[in-house]
Amino acid sequence: MSKILIIADHDNGSAKKITLNTIDFAKQLIAKRGGSFDIAVIGSGVAGVAAALTGHGAGAVHLAEHADLAHPLAQGFAKVVADLAKAVGADVVAMSASSLGKDALPRVAVRLQAGMASDVIGIGDAGGSVAYRRPMWAGNLVGDVVIDTPVHVVTVRSSAFDAIAASGGASPVQSFAADPGSSRAKFVRFDGTQSSRPDLGEATVVVAGGRGLKDRFGAITEPLADLLNGAIGASRAAVDDGFAPNDYQIGQTGKVVAPQLYFAIAISGAVQHLAGMKNSKVIVAINKNADEPIFKVADYGLVADAFTAVPELVSKIKALRS
Ligand SMILES: Cc1cc2nc3c(=O)[nH]c(=O)nc-3n(C[C@H](O)[C@H](O)[C@H](O)COP(=O)(O)OP(=O)(O)OC[C@H]3O[C@@H](n4cnc5c(N)ncnc54)[C@H](O)[C@@H]3O)c2cc1C
Repeated sequence: MSKILIIADHDNGSAKKITLNTIDFAKQLIAKRGGSFDIAVIGSGVAGVAAALTGHGAGAVHLAEHADLAHPLAQGFAKVVADLAKAVGADVVAMSASSLGKDALPRVAVRLQAGMASDVIGIGDAGGSVAYRRPMWAGNLVGDVVIDTPVHVVTVRSSAFDAIAASGGASPVQSFAADPGSSRAKFVRFDGTQSSRPDLGEATVVVAGGRGLKDRFGAITEPLADLLNGAIGASRAAVDDGFAPNDYQIGQTGKVVAPQLYFAIAISGAVQHLAGMKNSKVIVAINKNADEPIFKVADYGLVADAFTAVPELVSKIKALRS
């Protein structure tokens, strides 16, 4: 029997969709081991986030607020998570492998003297023990991690789990006296990217471009993304060469996405790129070289010059819609 504590990802106003993927992870773990899950909403002025998460079947939604958590730093956030986990007797602490999850949960594991599995994509069996399945070597291997400490700390790869819709229950919201303690780090400012496009990690359509688009990267990707309400992504080579900003990077050392529709435009399909997008539901590759590895994972492939094919695609979609 597990008592799972899910740490919600939120933007101070609402829960991020990746929280709902972590709930799916918890439900799958409960299906194997039995037990129940609680949700923790940690921040400042986040009662609305907690209220919005009461319909997902949690035993309780814990609301842990403190002024110093308005812009959480990993040290203080991890202390609050560990304190709460101890208070509720959690034996599994789970959060999505978001930036904050990756930053804070290893510190939680240290505080709880717990073993950790990161970037978990599934749950298996290992001789009666739960095995946390996670990709290794850029997804070329999948490893099963068995944790033998009493408490398990887990980060979850959101794209490998479904976003669980509310089931109509009414979990009680319980206040927890959060104490982030003192920290030698302090929040100075947050320079977020301002964009009207959907978040890359949550978009249902991603239009990704590679080095082949050169300095016409924006001119080719933006009209298609605008038309499909998609986010824009990029290969590392396109980022390294200065054609796209850093936060567009998809792959082993970038973001991991699994949208309904992924366009790989002038992207060769190196294994490090595939590690970030190969679980996309439908992959469309446009590349002028028919031998590129991207075509091995593509559901639809178009061997063509992107500079003519993509504008043509945009005008055909517009014509179909009008
Ligand atoms: C440790 C490590 C980590 C890495 N992490 C990542 C990562 O997270 N993400 C990532 O993407 N890469 C990563 N890489 C780099 C990766 O190995 C590749 O170098 C990179 O993905 C290549 O990007 P690309 O396909 O855009 O460029 P290229 O390999 O240069 O390919 C350009 C493509 O554009 C096509 N093309 C050119 N002109 C046109 C045109 N007019 N029309 C249509 N097609 C055209 C070409 O045929 C070619 O397929 C990593 C590498 C290492 C070693």
